[in-house]
Amino acid sequence: LGRAGPDRARLAPSMAEPSPGPRYRVVLLGDPGVGKTSLVNLFAGVQERDLLDQHGGAAYERRLTVDGEETTLLVLDTWEPEQRSQRRSHCLQIGNAYIIVYSVTDRDSFESASELRIQLRRARQAEDIPIILVGNKTDLVRCREVSEEEGQACAAVFDCKFIETSAALQHNVDELFEGVVRQIRLRQGGKKS
Ligand code: GDP
Repeated sequence: LGRAGPDRARLAPSMAEPSPGPRYRVVLLGDPGVGKTSLVNLFAGVQERDLLDQHGGAAYERRLTVDGEETTLLVLDTWEPEQRSQRRSHCLQIGNAYIIVYSVTDRDSFESASELRIQLRRARQAEDIPIILVGNKTDLVRCREVSEEEGQACAAVFDCKFIETSAALQHNVDELFEGVVRQIRLRQGGKKS
């Protein structure tokens, strides 16, 4: 399981204590092996066993303060491209925001990311849901197959935000999740759920 750093413990939710501020559901999408679990582990540390059954896979919860306001993110790492189509469409329906991850060392995963973006658009046609495209594994400089510019261009075409990360170097991981919160808030115009 994840790493439980000194500052993670207080972030773990307690069932007895209601979370202050709004709670948002964020779904991780992307090919196997691109680093989804590594990213969410770094962010949230502890996997919430209580939430496992409910969502049929790995769920992580963490409170965080962004721009002075507290929020709870429930991050679902349940995506498997091979799973039944009913489960896939469930994943595409339940998120308040989506993080689509590819590996900068794997062009196929970059192409899958575009495909996922299209599926998501189809599934949530009328909605303006925040989507962040993430190029992970930037530490593997010599194995890079997808440039940062290509990632940015893809995000521009698909109308989503873009960030490059390295779970191995813990680079841009908090920035990624804070960015998700900001994107959700922007769409809600400051309204709390
Ligand atoms: P998932 O299948 O998308 O959840 O991917 P995982 O998080 O399980 O990661 C797959 C493999 O890639 C594991 O061996 C990770 O240690 C490795 N990995 C994940 N992120 C990075 C990264 O940023 N850099 C490097 N070098 N390896 C990574």
